[in-house]
Amino acid sequence: MAPATSFGQGGIGIIRLSGPGCLELVRPFVVGPRGGFPPWESHRLYYGQFVDSSHRVIDEVMAVYMASPRSYTREDVVEIHCHGGLVVGRRILETLRQAGARTAQPGEFTLRAFLNGRIDLSQAEGVMEVIEARHRSAHQIAVRHLEGSLAHFCTQLKEQLLDSLALLETWIDFPEEDIDHPSFDSILSTLAAVIESLRPVVASFRNGRVLREGVSVLILGKPNVGKSSLLNALVGTDRAIVTDLPGTTRDTLEEQLDLDGLRLRLTDTAGLRDSDDPVEQEGVRRACSKIAQADLVLFVIDGHRGMDDEDRSALMRCGEKNSIIVINKSDLPSVEIPPLPSYLPVISVSASTGAGIDRLRDELRIRVGVDDGVECPESLILTEERHHHALSQTLDKLHKSVESLNAGLSPEFIALDLREAVESLGVITGDTAPEEVINRIFSRFCIGK
Ligand code: GDP
Repeated sequence: MAPATSFGQGGIGIIRLSGPGCLELVRPFVVGPRGGFPPWESHRLYYGQFVDSSHRVIDEVMAVYMASPRSYTREDVVEIHCHGGLVVGRRILETLRQAGARTAQPGEFTLRAFLNGRIDLSQAEGVMEVIEARHRSAHQIAVRHLEGSLAHFCTQLKEQLLDSLALLETWIDFPEEDIDHPSFDSILSTLAAVIESLRPVVASFRNGRVLREGVSVLILGKPNVGKSSLLNALVGTDRAIVTDLPGTTRDTLEEQLDLDGLRLRLTDTAGLRDSDDPVEQEGVRRACSKIAQADLVLFVIDGHRGMDDEDRSALMRCGEKNSIIVINKSDLPSVEIPPLPSYLPVISVSASTGAGIDRLRDELRIRVGVDDGVECPESLILTEERHHHALSQTLDKLHKSVESLNAGLSPEFIALDLREAVESLGVITGDTAPEEVINRIFSRFCIGK
């Protein structure tokens, strides 16, 4: 038993119970509109009142019983839809607890769905991804995982590999006979086909990580060059404080920008300059420490004042970082900027008028480097390090198997690698995932999921 929604917010709260006997437990507490108890047909929503053990009405509710196996957990499930707020849900939970229900662990409902075979491990992770998705592309990918696209892919590959393994095992069982050519060719072509379909999926992790977590973009430059104004121009709000006094952004500010469905985490920093003010020194120190963690730097120069030694030393701090140089204040007369490193793109903008901001967005899109195909429903994109690691291992073992086959090594060797390749696929779906991995995955879930 657990609240499936967080109490205190929203008009409705849902309490979910799962397991044998849950209907019997709830039955005495839900009273129908004419005083009797609902007949509790499966998958029907009943209107009534939830009463406590002294028959005092706690709330007006809607309740549903979902008979096993047609439920989220595949067990008998009852859900009570009550009003939101801090008190109602808690009183209902308390009543049910006194009647013998136990509070579910975080993720326990989904864990049961997994243990009862309704979903595999990658789908369980998809549930979490859907909940955590912060923008459209991440959500799109999460839904595909939830639907089982990764599970389906791994199962298909596994079946092909198991066929090859069976052929190899015949060869191991009858060592006096050389493997015939058709079998050898069939194993080789299966492995080649599996490698071919795995390769783009393993490579998709780069995009997947970016799509899931977003890209961190650091806005750097001397004080007063227009960093905060640029952040505002990109984001379209007045979140960052803009003033005429140099050094107003003492700490770092973060804003999210949705660039064609991709999340950019933009951080405005304290201006980079040498200062005696300890607060400002701290801001500069933090800005520098963020350079290493950022995926991309927007280095801003004031095009009206030009570039001086301070700009140059600030730019030096970026080193070889993936950067775009933004020459700001294009609405004002400009002075000549000395030659900049030729490998860095230079975009001229006015944060005040918005001129050049679209070009900057285009350049950001290129530099962030997410390929097309994210919106394409059939492409499989990895977002979890765990999946990437497992599929990379599968790929590795398959390459080894092909090498061993071609080198005429003993079939036992090849079978060993193939078996490990199959096991790595099983780690994703949960067939061969160690218990601590499964526990770690479900511990990330919230109560009620
Ligand atoms: P920061 O210290 O680098 O964050 O700079 P701010 O964004 O606070 O801007 C410093 C000053 O420059 C403010 O007075 C802004 O109004 C002004 N400013 C920023 N961008 C532009 C621009 O594109 N054109 C003009 N004319 N002024 C700008």
